[in-house]
Amino acid sequence: MQLGFWGVRGSIPAPGPATVRYGGNTACVSLRPAGGGLIVLDCGTGARNLGISLMEGAFGKGGGEASILLSHAHWDHIQGFPFFVPLYQPGNKFHIFGGAKSSSMLEGILEGQMAPQYFPVQTLKNMGATIDIVAIAEGEAFKVEGCQVRARTNPHGRAGALAFRIEEGAHSVVYASDAGYTGGGPAPEVVELYRGADVLIHDSTYTPEDKKRYADRGYSSVEDAVGAAIAAQVKRLVLFHYDQDYADGDVDALCARGRRLLDERGGKEIELTGATEGSTITV
Ligand SMILES: [Zn+2]
Repeated sequence: MQLGFWGVRGSIPAPGPATVRYGGNTACVSLRPAGGGLIVLDCGTGARNLGISLMEGAFGKGGGEASILLSHAHWDHIQGFPFFVPLYQPGNKFHIFGGAKSSSMLEGILEGQMAPQYFPVQTLKNMGATIDIVAIAEGEAFKVEGCQVRARTNPHGRAGALAFRIEEGAHSVVYASDAGYTGGGPAPEVVELYRGADVLIHDSTYTPEDKKRYADRGYSSVEDAVGAAIAAQVKRLVLFHYDQDYADGDVDALCARGRRLLDERGGKEIELTGATEGSTITV
């Protein structure tokens, strides 16, 4: 499997000279299974550049097919959707999975941000590509692009956010953006979801000090990310979804702190990476 990071920032895009190294786009990660196909994890503003790159291949000719997994529908996870150009190419096919009470509710959420008051062009129904939308049953395994996928809800805001585990053969990737654990760490069924993953992409919005200041926002600190990685004994932790006000130097410090915490708390074997826009990881 190959992971591509197109947007690693939380809450709102943060472009500018202070964020050029880690990037300013909001959450979007691509996962290409070794057996072919494409899974897109969230559609923050990073989805725009992913879409542009896809148009060079089959998606540019209307022969592309991909699946999109949405953790939740806060702006920083869906704002790139109307700007994801392969959706406008007739012939392309997209399967969207997300955590609403029903498929029509999820469709309504995506349609809502494309209402004429917010968006000048098409509506969801006439973008061009074929789109089907499916609400996920939590905990149950389902097949996406030849991979086995399971989801669990983490506490986040008023509606929660899904974490996804994607397995292809012996390899596994977990995507856990926006995780505001209550009670010190992930719930037992969530630790189970993360268990032994080759890569855990984890919310690491804050330093522990800033998390205390902004506790009501429902995000993890780097300390929470480290705790989850150690509890689930993952092989590699990828810090993700940095606060919009953190400059590159702040994110460097966040990563150094994560490394130190891993070493101090029994996670010496766990590799740590700070997600960087434009980078790839092969699993
Ligand atoms: Zn959120």
